[in-house]
Amino acid sequence: MEGSRHFIEVEIDKDLENGVYDHVCTRFPPEPNGYLHVGHAKSILLNYGLAVEYGGKFNMRFDDTNPTKEKTEFVESILADVRWLGADFEDRLYFASDYFQKMYECAVFLIKKGKAYVCDLSAQEIKEYRGDYNTPGRDSPYRDRPVEENLRLFQEMKDGKFADGERVLRAKIDMLSGNINMRDPVIYRVAHMSHHNTGDAWCIYPMYDFAHPIEDAVEGITHSICTLEFEDHRPLYDWVVRECEFASPPRQIEFAKLYLTNVITGKRYIKKLVEDAVVDGWDDPRLASIAALRRRGYTPESIRKFVDMVGVSKANSSVDYGMLEYCIREDLKLKSPRMMAVLDPVKLVIDNYPEGQTEMLEAPNNLENAELGVRSIPFGRELYIERDDFMEEPPKKYFRLFPGNEVRLMYAYFVTCTGCEKDAQGNVTVVHATYDPATKSGSGFEGRKVKGTIHWVDAKHAKQVECRLYENIVDESKGILDEEGALNLNPRSLTVLKDCRVEPGLANARAYDRFQFVRNGYFCADYKDSKPGAPVFGRIVELKSSYTIPKGEL
Ligand code: ATP
Ligand code: MG
Repeated sequence: MEGSRHFIEVEIDKDLENGVYDHVCTRFPPEPNGYLHVGHAKSILLNYGLAVEYGGKFNMRFDDTNPTKEKTEFVESILADVRWLGADFEDRLYFASDYFQKMYECAVFLIKKGKAYVCDLSAQEIKEYRGDYNTPGRDSPYRDRPVEENLRLFQEMKDGKFADGERVLRAKIDMLSGNINMRDPVIYRVAHMSHHNTGDAWCIYPMYDFAHPIEDAVEGITHSICTLEFEDHRPLYDWVVRECEFASPPRQIEFAKLYLTNVITGKRYIKKLVEDAVVDGWDDPRLASIAALRRRGYTPESIRKFVDMVGVSKANSSVDYGMLEYCIREDLKLKSPRMMAVLDPVKLVIDNYPEGQTEMLEAPNNLENAELGVRSIPFGRELYIERDDFMEEPPKKYFRLFPGNEVRLMYAYFVTCTGCEKDAQGNVTVVHATYDPATKSGSGFEGRKVKGTIHWVDAKHAKQVECRLYENIVDESKGILDEEGALNLNPRSLTVLKDCRVEPGLANARAYDRFQFVRNGYFCADYKDSKPGAPVFGRIVELKSSYTIPKGEL
C-alpha cells in the first residue's frame, strides 16, 4: 500500500541502522531470453525505486551465464523497456559473462579451501545420491578427492579434456541438509558451446546459484532482490558469498511475483503465438509484454502507478487486468485531448442547414483541463454519426436519435430526427434531421433540455482512418489453457474497423500520440502501421470499467 513502508524497506532500514551497509545498491538481472512483461516491470521499478529512495545506485545486468538460450535481440528490447520505464542505470550496464574469469577464480579458491570437488558421477547418479525431502543424501565417492587432484581435474575440465556431463564441480556442503539445495550442489558443468559474448573461450559454465551471488558481490550490490522461488536457495547464496570471502557480502531478499489474471506471460506461449502469426510480434498490442503495453499506448507513469498500487508482498497473488486499465485511464484523463471519432459511421443529413455551408465551431480539448486549450472543428449539412446512435424503433430509455426525438450534437446544435433512408436489405443508409439555429453551443441557449448528447464529424472534412479494437487474446470464459495445454484463443481479440471517420485534426497524429475519442475510449496511434497523414488508431482502453478498485488499495 502507498504510504506505509513495505517489508523490504523495513529490512533495508534495519541494515543501515545496524551498520551492515552504509549505502544501497540494487540491480535488475534479466536473462536475455525473451521480452519483458509487466511482472518484470514490477521488479525493475522496485529495484530502481529503492536505489532512488535511499540515494543509492541501480545497476542493469544481463544474467547471460547460460550459453544455450541468450539472444542479442532480447538484449536490445530489454534495454529499451528499462529505459522507457525510466529506470536510469546511468553508465552501469553489465554482463554477467564478463565475470566468467572471476567466477572461475572463485571456484579454484573453493577447491583450495577444500570446499569444492570434481565429481565423476553422472547426472542421473547425482540425482539418486541427492535423496529427496524424506531421504537423506549420500556422499559421492569422489567427495574426498585431494585438493591437488581436484585442481588438476578442474583445469582439465576447463581445457576441454572432458565431454559434456562427464565431470562436474560440486560445492562440498552437507549431504544431510534438510535443504536439498545444500546437498553438494553442482557449481560448474562442462558444456562445449559457444557463448554470444565470450565465444569459445570457455567450455565450462557456472550454474546459476553459484554465478548469481558472485555477480552481485563483484558489483557491490547490497540488496539482491529476487522472487519467492529463490527463498530455498538463500542458504546457498549466503554460503557462496561467505566461502568466497567477499569483503561486503550482498543480502538476498525475496518478494512475491506479480501475476495478472487471465494474461499470458509465459515466454513459451508468446513465442508460439508469434511463430503461428496469431499476433504480429512480441509487441502485438494484445499481449502484456512491456513492449506491447508501450505500443498499445500505456505510459510509463501508468505502469508505475499500477506497480505502486499492487505493492510489495510475500504472498503470491494475481491482480486483475482491470487495475492496469484503471491506471492508464487515470493517467490519460487530464493529459490527452478529447476528440470526436466515429467508429461505425452512418450519414446524418440536416435538411434545413444551408447546402454547401461550412462553419467552424469551437470545442475545448479537455473539459476537465482548460490548459489543453480549444480547437475549431468544421460543421456542415452532412455529418457522420455512430450507427448505433440512431434507432428507428427505440427501446425504453434510449435517448439518442429516433424519429421525433431531439438530441444535442456535441459542441454544435440540437437536432431533431425526422426519419431515415434504407437500402433494399433494410439497412439504414442515411438519417435525416433538422436543427435549431438558436441552440448553438456556447450561445447561452437555455430554452429546453435534451437527454442525449452524441458525437459527430463533418462528412466533407472528416478523415477516413483505420481503428483497431482489442480484447484479451485468450478467452477468459474458458480459462487460459484447454485440456491439451493449448491456449484458448479469443476469436474476437482483434477487430479492425477500416471505415472510421475522424476530425480532420487527427489526420496529423504521429506514432504514440494518445487521444480520448469521446464516448469510444482512449486510442493511440500505432507506431508500426501508421503512415504520415494516415494514422492507424488502436484502442488502449474503454472509458468505463466494470472493475472496481478493492478497498484500501488507493
Ligand atoms: P525465466 O523463466 O526465463 O527465468 P523470468 O521471468 O524469471 O524467466 P528473468 O530474466 O530471470 O526472467 O527475470 C529477471 C528478474 O525479474 C528476476 O529478478 C525475477 O525475479 C524478476 N521477475 C520475473 N518475473 C517476475 C514477476 N512475475 N513478478 C515480479 N518479478 C519478476
Ligand atoms: Mg528467472
